Amino acid sequence: MQKITRRQWLIRVGGAALAPAVFSSCRPDISRDVESVGSRLASAYVPVKPNGCVACDNCMPCPYGIDIPSNLIFVDRAAEESYLPGDLDDPDFAQKGTKFLSRYEDAIPDAAQTQRCIACGECLGTCPVGIDIPRQMSVITSLTDILRDLRCQQL
Ligand code: SF4
Ligand code: SF4
Repeated sequence: MQKITRRQWLIRVGGAALAPAVFSSCRPDISRDVESVGSRLASAYVPVKPNGCVACDNCMPCPYGIDIPSNLIFVDRAAEESYLPGDLDDPDFAQKGTKFLSRYEDAIPDAAQTQRCIACGECLGTCPVGIDIPRQMSVITSLTDILRDLRCQQL
C-alpha cells in the first residue's frame, strides 16, 4: 500500500495550488477560545487519558503504518509532563493543546499518526495490558483534529 502525507493528499485532491494555501493559513499557536471548535468535532471529543503502554510492540506492525506504541507513549509522557489537554472547558486547554500538538507533530511522522487508523481491528486483542488500541487511536485523533482546527482558525 502506498503511503502519502496529508500535504501530498491535499495536492492530489485539490490541485497543486491548494495545499500551500491551506498550510500557510495555519499558525503555530492556538489562542482562540475553544468555543469556536466546530460542533461536530466537539461532540466527538472525549478527553484522552494515560493508557499504560509498556512498548512491548506486540501490536505491531500496523498494516496501515501507524506507530501504535509511539502514539500511546507520547500521550503518557504528555500526561506526566502536564501538557495533555483535558476537557474543552478547561482554562488550560489551549495552552496545553499548543504544546501537545507541536510536540506530537515533531515526534511522530504524519504517516504514523493516529488519524491513519481505519479501525481494521488487526491489533485488537494483541495488547498484554488490555489497551483497546482502535479506541485509543480514535480518541487521540479527536483531540488532534480539534487542535488542528483551532490552529487553522488563527487567520
Ligand atoms: S485498528 Fe488501527 S491501529 Fe489497529 S491495526 Fe488497524 S489501522 Fe492499525
Ligand atoms: S501491545 Fe499494548 S503495551 Fe504493547 S506496544 Fe502495543 S499497545 Fe503498547
